[in-house]
Amino acid sequence: MINIPPFDATAQYKSIAAEIEQKVCAVMAGGRYIMGPQVKEFEIQFAQYLNCEQVISCNSGTDALHLALRALKIGAGDEVITTPFTFIATTEAIGIVGATPVFVDVELSSYNIDPQLIESKITEHTKAIIPVHLYGRPCNMTAIMEIARKYNLKVIEDVAQACGATWEGKQVGTIGDVGCFSFFPTKNLGCFGDGGAIATDNSIIAERVEHLRRHGGKIKYQHEELGLNSRLDTLQATVLLVKLQHLNRWNVARTQIAEYYVNKLSDVENIALPIVVQEGNSVWNQFTVRILHKQRNYVQKFLQEKGIGSMVYYPIPLHLQQVHSDLNYPLGSLPVSEQLSHEVLSLPMFPELPASSQKVVVESFREALANIYLSSNVR
Ligand SMILES: *Cc1c(COP(=O)(O)O)cnc(C)c1O
Repeated sequence: MINIPPFDATAQYKSIAAEIEQKVCAVMAGGRYIMGPQVKEFEIQFAQYLNCEQVISCNSGTDALHLALRALKIGAGDEVITTPFTFIATTEAIGIVGATPVFVDVELSSYNIDPQLIESKITEHTKAIIPVHLYGRPCNMTAIMEIARKYNLKVIEDVAQACGATWEGKQVGTIGDVGCFSFFPTKNLGCFGDGGAIATDNSIIAERVEHLRRHGGKIKYQHEELGLNSRLDTLQATVLLVKLQHLNRWNVARTQIAEYYVNKLSDVENIALPIVVQEGNSVWNQFTVRILHKQRNYVQKFLQEKGIGSMVYYPIPLHLQQVHSDLNYPLGSLPVSEQLSHEVLSLPMFPELPASSQKVVVESFREALANIYLSSNVR
């Protein structure tokens, strides 16, 4: 029986187990579980990798967004422009600090926020833009930074899905004022639990995040403002120090799988493959195709029956989520995101996906689409 998961965390673990286990055991024996030296060491090495001034780690990507907004003093009465086609964490952070998310629809070709639609949503209350580099693919940062400069807005990049991706030669997450990373296990750089970080060239932002992540004070037991308990565990930093050494190699492996998929599926009708951009490199956190003519759920079920896992990111755009009903975006108000939520399907994608499995995925996917064609479900 074939069993090809959409993602397999254990395959990566096995490939580096020997390297990691000895280091993790040393941390456990050493007892410095909170803010051990590995945390600082990881921050330094990750900043070097990104080629930015400072990295401050924290407990999750969600907290990274929250801390970034707090560091920029964005809160009640402020508006933050973002995409509705993302994970809830993006708007959760905006809401938690008391600000209001303002949705701008995405481009059908890139799934990312459409820079051409941003300006018309800017008001006197707008303080920031949060572009999300979805599926590992960079947003058009040139256009976004131009708008931000023109209107004096902050840019907080949500890099949770795009660690290692570049835009015009720069690492995403280092182009805006602050980049927010997640080390959740399914991300390109994932630890063995929750983890996150912010990256910035701005020492004021870095210092504020540094204080806020440990209860809002410079000195222990002296608190200037309400903070959080949001530190990266020493154990997770230890894991990340090892994994960072492999990140580029893993991102290349993802790219090779994406190229194989594109190559083998380019002649399939009634789908749209992800389009590669000239200005930037995707790191393929997901390989996401659009399946046209309302056949997505059929294709997913067909693959499921063959033992192939696939995922829908995301079945409901954020403006239609119950939690955001007070924002009053009716059905039809952000049509591209709504269309994508019915069309997208992410195929198995992780660096260790064997060539034999890639072949089975391609063959079964082609079979599913051929079935649709034969049964003339399509028009
Ligand atoms: C995963 C993710 C987050 C949140 O990261 P956590 O570490 O799980 O809190 C935020 N934004 C996007 C786009 C994500 O995919």
